[in-house]
Amino acid sequence: MSDGAEGHGNLLYGPQPDVAGAAGYPDAPPRMGFFTDTSVCIGCKACEVACKEWNAVPEDGLLLTGMSYDNTQGLGADTWRHVAFIEQRKPLAGQEPGVAHDDVDVFAAASRLGTDVASPGPGATAPPPDRAPGGAPAGEISPVSPDGRTELRWLMASDVCKHCTHAACLDVCPTGSLFRTEFGTVVVQEDICNGCGYCVPACPYGVIDQRKDDGRAWKCTLCYDRLGVGMEPACAKSCPTDSIQFGPLEELRERAQARVAQLHAAGVTDARLYGESPDDGVGGDGAFFLLLDEPEVYGLPPDPVVTTRDLPDMWRHAALAAVSLLALAAGSFVRRQR
Ligand code: SF4
Ligand code: SF4
Repeated sequence: MSDGAEGHGNLLYGPQPDVAGAAGYPDAPPRMGFFTDTSVCIGCKACEVACKEWNAVPEDGLLLTGMSYDNTQGLGADTWRHVAFIEQRKPLAGQEPGVAHDDVDVFAAASRLGTDVASPGPGATAPPPDRAPGGAPAGEISPVSPDGRTELRWLMASDVCKHCTHAACLDVCPTGSLFRTEFGTVVVQEDICNGCGYCVPACPYGVIDQRKDDGRAWKCTLCYDRLGVGMEPACAKSCPTDSIQFGPLEELRERAQARVAQLHAAGVTDARLYGESPDDGVGGDGAFFLLLDEPEVYGLPPDPVVTTRDLPDMWRHAALAAVSLLALAAGSFVRRQR
């Protein structure tokens, strides 16, 4: 097994320029993937719903967690797309952060609710135009909302299986239930899964999961059945803002670089790509993201590494230990014969 970055064979670690070729598809089409631009996500969850509908993924509870407007908490056997809602005390670049509430007497402010136009009180309907509070000049974002709460922002991000270049889930599967497709994606076949669960701890992102009733493993297939007939995955098709973009991975990477440059020029200096680099610990993801903060804020590992990277070394050491034990046993046997 080669460790080099140049080879096209089946590597466990390092850049892999021809993922499908290494998996045995000599005439594979371009590698396909997802670019999820979280800067335009509006948290509508159309992607979650479309994924469930197309793939017939069972309902997994619709209760709010009590911690945010999230009602699914994370990816799982029955959640193949998950829209995270993260509330932060931080303005977006270019926005006026508004007023801090630290020096505000909230009880006094509450007692004024409903006494003027700018503070209409709970349940109030919009005031008539002639009595509405002044807004921002046309074309500008209002720096401070009428109740002065613009120091908060929501980060929304639709998470999914990363379809890793080096997919540990696939490496450890003993039945061949997990396989690499001709599009370079990673698919699990539930009818071959024996429920051993090896893939679950192997995934560095905590994506793949077993269903409680029969223990079989499930995750996003990047809508393999749709790709096969030239259609895009259901989540990308349904996203109204194009936050989820589907296409040839190389093209998506170029588009993502351009989008980051555009955001930086607009003052959004925290914008960064996550999972797009072929030099990272999983050889780059087939599903990568534009984030507006550190990966940890979104619950993503900052520096993921394919968990099977050290397998050859581990086997080498185990073989060495076995040979040493055999030599010791043989030595003591020979001594006893004398
Ligand atoms: S993210 Fe996890 S489940 Fe998805 S391909 Fe990578 S290792 Fe497998
Ligand atoms: S990714 Fe698109 S479809 Fe999903 S929640 Fe965001 S805007 Fe809605």
